[in-house]
Amino acid sequence: MYCIRLIILFLLSVSLSFAQDAQICHIANTGFFVSNGESSVLMDALYADGMDGDPVASGVVNSNMENAKGRFSNVDLIFASHIHEDHMKAKPILRHLRANDNAKAILPAQAAIFMRAAGIGNENERIHYADLKPGEVRALDGYDMPVTLYGLSHGAGNEDITNIGIKIEVNGKTIMHVGDMYGPQAGFGPQNKITVDYLMIPFWYLYRPERVEYIQSIFNVQNIIPMHFALDSSEWMQSMGGLKSVKERTYSSTDNIITLDQEMMCIPIK
Ligand SMILES: [Zn+2]
Repeated sequence: MYCIRLIILFLLSVSLSFAQDAQICHIANTGFFVSNGESSVLMDALYADGMDGDPVASGVVNSNMENAKGRFSNVDLIFASHIHEDHMKAKPILRHLRANDNAKAILPAQAAIFMRAAGIGNENERIHYADLKPGEVRALDGYDMPVTLYGLSHGAGNEDITNIGIKIEVNGKTIMHVGDMYGPQAGFGPQNKITVDYLMIPFWYLYRPERVEYIQSIFNVQNIIPMHFALDSSEWMQSMGGLKSVKERTYSSTDNIITLDQEMMCIPIK
């Protein structure tokens, strides 16, 4: 009897410690690391030196991500929203898949040609290439955390780019990353809102009041994590008054915003 109690106590403490370790951590730009304590997901994080004008992870974090070292040793899933090089590059993803036999990937179907060009072999069997049109929703099995994908438009001028959002469940909470969702979104609205506890969304939906209203009309959202700030030196940020001003407007746009914009800055999922 005593022994059974000890076992129950042990199991309880193990599950509690997993719960305590459930975290969302920022990598760089739109890159995030989400962990339930025992396994984890990399979202839009494996793009090495990315694109000029956008922030990239430090050499140490990039090396650990690509080689599945340290905090990134238990990655179950690599997700990329779309093929733009500030969100994914084939070789860094391939390096992780080779370093970590347990890792799987969900990539847009358009990434297949880049993975082939990078020299992918059997690792391709661990990749799910997703091709969702704007407005489509698809639940997927086979991952440590429940996954639902959303077809989200990358906006005018980028209609030929498949952009996918991902929602995962960790500790009973939902975490969603929308990639480069831009402009109005077919299929989602006040009649069928997307309910989510932690929403990673580009800052461009937040720094203007009418866009904040739009986001609130398509999401039932508890916490918003703004992302995709470019470098202050970029023409883009300078054209909007500089990074400091863009961040100030973004972070004061609603009362449910979480600041998570430094490398490996983490928040608990609770
Ligand atoms: Zn982007």
